[in-house]
Amino acid sequence: MTKADVKSEMLSKDEKYVWHSMKPYNPQATMVGKNAKGSWITDIDGHQYLDAMSGLWCVNVGYGREELAQAAYEQIKDLSYMPLTQSHEAAIKLGEKINQMIGDDYVIFFSNSGSEANEAAFKMVRQYHQQKGDHYRTKFISRYRAYHGNSASALAATGQAQRKYKYEPLGQGFLHVAPPDEYRNNHSEKDRWGAKEMDNVMTWEYRETIAGVIMEPIITGGGVIVPPEPYMKEVKEICEKHGALMIVDEVICGFGRTGKPFGFMNYGIKPDIITMAKGITSAYLPLSATAVKRDIYEAFCGDDSYDFFRHINTFGGHPAACAVALKNIEIMEKENLFERSRLLGETILNDLGNRLQNHKNVGHVRGKGLLIGIEMVEDQQSKEPLAVEKVNQIIGYCKEKGVIIGKNGMTVAGFNNVLTLAPPLSIEEEDVTLLLDTVVEAIQSV
Ligand code: PMP
Repeated sequence: MTKADVKSEMLSKDEKYVWHSMKPYNPQATMVGKNAKGSWITDIDGHQYLDAMSGLWCVNVGYGREELAQAAYEQIKDLSYMPLTQSHEAAIKLGEKINQMIGDDYVIFFSNSGSEANEAAFKMVRQYHQQKGDHYRTKFISRYRAYHGNSASALAATGQAQRKYKYEPLGQGFLHVAPPDEYRNNHSEKDRWGAKEMDNVMTWEYRETIAGVIMEPIITGGGVIVPPEPYMKEVKEICEKHGALMIVDEVICGFGRTGKPFGFMNYGIKPDIITMAKGITSAYLPLSATAVKRDIYEAFCGDDSYDFFRHINTFGGHPAACAVALKNIEIMEKENLFERSRLLGETILNDLGNRLQNHKNVGHVRGKGLLIGIEMVEDQQSKEPLAVEKVNQIIGYCKEKGVIIGKNGMTVAGFNNVLTLAPPLSIEEEDVTLLLDTVVEAIQSV
């Protein structure tokens, strides 16, 4: 069989048996991956691609690390399964490690995906208030444009209507406010618009009914929206004023993506609850975690035999996934990848800023660490989002040159106008050069 025959057989079986997410079936655009190393993926045709999106923003240490395969192998050989109704060494060590990374006293609940980590957080927060006698605190506030997951409550918290309307009714009790968007809404740091809105909604909704807030430090999928410096701190203070808990969704921002171990560390706060997934294992195996401040956890340890968290998860904290996570974090620390992400992020922002600031279709270049957004517009005055066909042309140009980048944004049809770059934190410097040259060329070609 020739390579072309193998590919065509794979694609026809793919069409028959595999239900892909998020797009109509299009064999021309489907990449069948064969293997990957570092920041590069090779497809079944032998074409190589620089993966400047780290898969779905998750392969933080890059592909093909043999130590991670070895860690999974050793763990499965010794103890292939143990539910976390009991315990095992890898989960204990990983709990301790995450606690050290956060730098405070948190207790860690393990699940398998970002959605599940957020679902667990919502249930914990509601039960916590119940057990404190605050029976009306059931509502959550999140932000428009944010994504928090695909399950009923995580999707209810999501602020992207087009992902939701065909599946409603979703989880009840989720409200949304607008995020501060310094490019589009021109909020100055002084006017504190974003945090004030949160404060107002908590008051108008009757503060005794607000259970908590969930937010990413930087909105990722909604178009890499970096908040003004004091925003998170102000929201935390507002939560405290109204008696609500603050959940920070670090599913993408965690594990070095924004140049710090966790994204909230850029903004000088300590959340009540932190959810994490993706980079925790660099997606070598599925794992997520919900880290909860000890004083909140203690509300689940009372004498009443119904005080415990009534939530079970067969695969959550799987021994192999925990062993891989420990090794993955060890690699990040050994190779100083958090700091590398911060420094490379600065270089990229400077370079793109310099080369693109006068381009009429480039509205705003922004980000932190290796989480970068380039907001594309029809022209800099009107800020009208660049037509989706043109955004697709830019992405297609990059792919043609062997570079994968992403697009996100307001995410209603036609407004995915923010080009996104989130390469592995281990990306080689020559690959950074290739990435930036290709993106600039692609933008200039439209
Ligand atoms: N939160 C955020 C911020 C995310 O970006 C995602 C997924 N992209 C999720 C939660 C859900 O994670 P998962 O797909 O692992 O369920």
